[in-house]
Amino acid sequence: MDYKDYYKILGVARGASSDDIKKAFRKLARKYHPDVNPGDKKAEERFKEINEAYEVLSDADKRKRYDTLGPNWQEQFGSGFPGGTRRTYTYGGGGGRNPFDFDGGGASGFSDFFEALFGRSGMGGARASGANGMREDLRRRAGDNIEQPVEVTLQEAYMGGSRTFSIQSTEICPTCHGTGEVNNRVCSTCSGQGQVPRNKRIQVKIPAGVDNGSKIRVAGEGQPGIGGGPRGDLFLVISVKPDSVFERKGDDLYVPVNVDLVKAMLGGEVAVPTPDGRKLLLTIPSETQNDRQFRLTGKGMPRLRGEGNGNLYAQVKVVLPMHLSSEERELFEKLARSRGVEAHS
Ligand SMILES: [Zn+2]
Repeated sequence: MDYKDYYKILGVARGASSDDIKKAFRKLARKYHPDVNPGDKKAEERFKEINEAYEVLSDADKRKRYDTLGPNWQEQFGSGFPGGTRRTYTYGGGGGRNPFDFDGGGASGFSDFFEALFGRSGMGGARASGANGMREDLRRRAGDNIEQPVEVTLQEAYMGGSRTFSIQSTEICPTCHGTGEVNNRVCSTCSGQGQVPRNKRIQVKIPAGVDNGSKIRVAGEGQPGIGGGPRGDLFLVISVKPDSVFERKGDDLYVPVNVDLVKAMLGGEVAVPTPDGRKLLLTIPSETQNDRQFRLTGKGMPRLRGEGNGNLYAQVKVVLPMHLSSEERELFEKLARSRGVEAHS
């Protein structure tokens, strides 16, 4: 049983990042995909090899195990290694259909080397679903999801609504169909990348109540899939612009409200703004102190998940009168005498 150099198969360095591994895999997978090379057994073998290499190197646990063993792996296992018995593994259910049957011939899509290292249970696992799970997995792969940051105003977050965003992803190069080559020459359309940039404007509904870090999923606008696999999804990652009037803490809003001294003393109605431009009337009692906070229950941000709204807190900022008339000044002097306050007269 030969050692397989998965790094070499994918054409990446041993220390390659998971991103580089993914990129290398996707490029090769497109090039050798059975759909692109119908009836080409060599391409299919290569395709299986690429998938296998990716299966190992994209999985942190498997990669570690593979790296630890190295080319002298068999010595470490010793002669008692059960690699030779792998064919006796049986799978129950399914009416005799092997869920790992790649090409209908009964053989798994993975090499003896792979099976020796990880066993048959190492194959795909969660990704293989249904009777033809592995077959599906090998032939079609969904594209990657993309995250794109977008900024909304507090007003948009409060009211929800619809916005058009320009989104950037890629699509399979139409000239070389993703292989990066045309007649064994580097494809000039995509410079051998197999992909070309894709810009699209899409209208997205912003749900009321979004906050920093909220993600809006836009299905099917991510990176392209392989072999007819579906595009990945796009996630818009929200950040809410700081507002000059309202302060937001979770679902609660805080807003300062200027109140004339006389109204603070005698009590009365004050107008409290909301982010959508409305004014709510708040009745304050007499002798309301500066900085006193009033809760307007259920008038804050809509809750993104769940019912209703947070609260709106109005913070009283008492405004002292200016440009007193002589009559007003006399009234204040009268007030000063009444309260025993010494003042200039
Ligand atoms: Zn191209």
